[in-house]
Amino acid sequence: MRIAEMLTRSKPTISFEFMAPRNESEVDVLEQTVSTLAGHAPDWVSVTYRVRTGDKTLELVTRIKRQYHIEAMAHLTCANSADRTRQILNWMEREGVANVLALRGDDPAAGQRFVPADPQLAHASDLITLVKRSGYRFGVGAACSAEKHPESPTLDHEMRYMRLKVECGADFLITQLFMDNAFYFDLVRRARDEGITVPIVPGLMPIASRRSLGVMTAMSGASVPAALQAAIDEAPDDEAIRALGVRHCIAQCAELLEAGVPGLHFYTFNRARAPIEILEALRGQQLLAS
Ligand code: FAD
Repeated sequence: MRIAEMLTRSKPTISFEFMAPRNESEVDVLEQTVSTLAGHAPDWVSVTYRVRTGDKTLELVTRIKRQYHIEAMAHLTCANSADRTRQILNWMEREGVANVLALRGDDPAAGQRFVPADPQLAHASDLITLVKRSGYRFGVGAACSAEKHPESPTLDHEMRYMRLKVECGADFLITQLFMDNAFYFDLVRRARDEGITVPIVPGLMPIASRRSLGVMTAMSGASVPAALQAAIDEAPDDEAIRALGVRHCIAQCAELLEAGVPGLHFYTFNRARAPIEILEALRGQQLLAS
């Protein structure tokens, strides 16, 4: 089923992002996490894509669909040639994948810029165009930033290309992580003023540790609210930071649900504990159905 359709229902969707395993040592944790979170009945899930582990993304997406009967979306980036991209899309179509998240892709490493494998596929909008013009019937999602993308000079520049992705055929958007809901509400208001009507799903990252917070804020451009940063600075250890992160995320989700968001999308980093604690708290507050 198309995710965009689920996002227009009255009940907000709950979804989890899993990272395709980079090596054998990550497989067991991932399997455990997928099985645990599948028990929390997400409406849909998604699996990240890296060129070196692309096959793992496709395997995991199809297995989640078959084994757990959960709609699983494959991420796909501009890391391949147009021909290779069509091969991947053909494979997905044969396997019954219904939704693709079309992305430009992360920089390969800190300090190294993303270089497209094919000049025809330099941006997510090019990948969306390829999917749509080749006649595939996938639902297509795209990324957007609640705060400014690190490469964008201004928010207006960012909005121009977000709009282009929708004009090229993206039928819903998922935001990069943000820790202050004001950025999300402002993004949605500006998008609606621009005539962008597709659902915009907030992407949420419960903070796992001081180190992971540093890595993720540097990559995404997300800022940490001053009060949260002060509490993190005073926290004695990573377990205390994790607990603070869960509490902060619960408060964010509660406000987003009260505002009527189409769904909550959790960046799990292949860990189940924080999303479970957050969902249980939201159910306890009757903000989500049990
Ligand atoms: P684009 O839309 O191409 O935007 C990149 C930059 O270029 C922006 O500054 C934008 O304003 C600008 N721009 C866009 N179009 C044009 C244009 N036509 N001309 C000029 N400038 C333009 N990365 C991965 O490698 N694998 C993943 O699985 C993955 N999953 C993600 C899931 C989500 C929900 C999100 C939010 C991000 C994910 N990322 C992933 C990271 C993403 O690839 C990076 O944020 C990347 O820097 C931008 O991707 P994009 O699709 O928004 O790119």
